[in-house]
Amino acid sequence: MKSGPFNLSGKVAIVTGGNGGIGLGMVRGLAEAGAAIAIVGRNEAKSAAAVAELERSGARAISVVADVTDKAAVAAVAERVAREFGRIDILVNNAGINIRKPPHALDIAEWNSVIATNLTSAFLCSQAVYPAMKAAGGGKIINIGSMMSIFGASFAPAYAASKGGIVQFTRSCACAWAADNIQANAVLPGWIDTDLTKQAREQIDGLHDRVLARTPAARWGGIGDFGGIAVFLASAASDFVTGTAIPVDGGYSIMG
Ligand code: NDP
Repeated sequence: MKSGPFNLSGKVAIVTGGNGGIGLGMVRGLAEAGAAIAIVGRNEAKSAAAVAELERSGARAISVVADVTDKAAVAAVAERVAREFGRIDILVNNAGINIRKPPHALDIAEWNSVIATNLTSAFLCSQAVYPAMKAAGGGKIINIGSMMSIFGASFAPAYAASKGGIVQFTRSCACAWAADNIQANAVLPGWIDTDLTKQAREQIDGLHDRVLARTPAARWGGIGDFGGIAVFLASAASDFVTGTAIPVDGGYSIMG
């Protein structure tokens, strides 16, 4: 049995979009610290592969196929996880998409889809797990923002709105649920090599080199950069940390 402030043995975590990219990086960290994991995503095969990997390493894990923009589906996720694992201690709101267009070219369906996936889903999931966290005597909510929580970009009107919104939503949950011993924090990734940014590198000329030039750490992030921050924000180590937005960006956001 592990011990210490970072120990997550006996804890149960739900990670949306935990079947790949940054979510999977966080899942690996949480599982290694002892948490049981519920991976939520739409792609059943991708989730099954992540669960198999976790089980091979000795972790308890299940896949729950759901669209996080669907209120009934999200309620069913919370219900199933509470039933199978007996409690919910940690929620990582990580599922996200982007549609890269300037504001004048983005149509309303595209706007709605980005806001629903990146922002409304965090509201739905947080609301759905709140009763179980309260019943467990506390909980941890980790919301994934972006550099677009801080900066604007011509190609990211809905994405930046959703990621700015997620920081303010985080602060509201932190205030509302502090009395229930629930801490809510946001993580703001810099430029990380995942499926999401592969597309961006193809669509935006010179992006790869511009990111390297602006990042003091002089590299793109990898999904392995997210295990530590997930464990910190999910564990007793961060019990007096709430409402923050922590960049994990190799210094991108402090480069003058
Ligand atoms: P990926 O595309 O690798 O992962 C996105 C995940 O979200 C997938 O696992 C996908 O699973 C899930 N997802 C998307 N829509 C839904 C939905 N409607 N319901 C359930 N799950 C959904 O991208 P990243 O790992 O890069 O992104 C993860 C998060 O990090 C996002 O919020 C993104 O905005 C943020 N981020 C990423 C950065 C980067 O540089 N990569 C930088 C800053 C922020 P499935 O397909 O199975 O549904």
